[in-house]
Formats: sequence, structure tokens, C-alpha cells
Amino acid sequence: MTEINYDDNNIFARILRHELNADVIFENEHVLVFQDKFPQARVHLLAIPKGRYRSFDDFSAHAGQEEIVSFFQAIGDSARHAGLTHGGYRLVSNCGKNAGQEVPHFHMHILGGEALGPIIS
Ligand code: IMP
Repeated sequence: MTEINYDDNNIFARILRHELNADVIFENEHVLVFQDKFPQARVHLLAIPKGRYRSFDDFSAHAGQEEIVSFFQAIGDSARHAGLTHGGYRLVSNCGKNAGQEVPHFHMHILGGEALGPIIS
């Protein structure tokens, strides 16, 4: 579904249009997974849906079942492919202002490859 307040000039929209380069790990009809440009762990991937969703709130309210299933399958597949299964990994999605979301296109961080500190201490 199309979101009226979606900013078509955000960085991830530009990556999806191939206006900016990304180091792509996985792609299908619904999802793109690529390397975070400023990694915060030894492995730091970002998974984004191809639809115009500003945040998890938009995605969970408006995405279709096929998009949602495809998104989460792509995350699991990418984590396995990156060798993260054995050591474990963390999924994080910042949703909106209070969470400090910087890029207004829904994305899930996939972090691993090393022991991560506690997310809440
Ligand atoms: P947020 O703070 O949850 O919105 O996360 C945005 C993420 O996008 C950060 O981890 C950034 O390092 C990452 N990022 C920003 N610009 C780019 C880019 O051009 N390519 C890949 N990742 C980016």
C-alpha cells in the first residue's frame, strides 16, 4: 500500500531505485538486504521491504501477508547465509522519533558476528 507521507528521497528509496550503490546480500520481489554503511557490529545488515513504508508501524498496519512473510524469511535466510546462526544475532528496528529512527523507510538491523552488549542494561 502507498503511504502519503512517505519521503521518496530518503536514502533507502534511492538505493531501491539504484540511484545509490549498496552492497546487496539478498534480493527478491519484496525485499532487499544489504550491508550497513556504518556497521555497529562485525556483521551489520539491513533488511528493507520494497514497499513505501516509513516504519514498522506502517509496515505492520499496511503490508500484505506475502510481503510480511517474505520479509521475515529474507532476514532468516540472510542471517544463515552470513553464518550468524551458531553464534546468534540481534534484530532491531527503530520505529519513529522516540527510538531515534534516522532513515524513514522501514528497516530491520541484523547484528552479529561477535558478542553484543546488552540492549537494555
Ligand atoms: P536507523 O537509525 O535505525 O534509522 O538506522 C539507519 C541505518 O542506516 C544506520 O545504521 C546507518 O549506518 C545506515 N545507513 C545510512 N546511510 C546508509 C547507506 O547509504 N547505505 C547503507 N546504510 C546506510
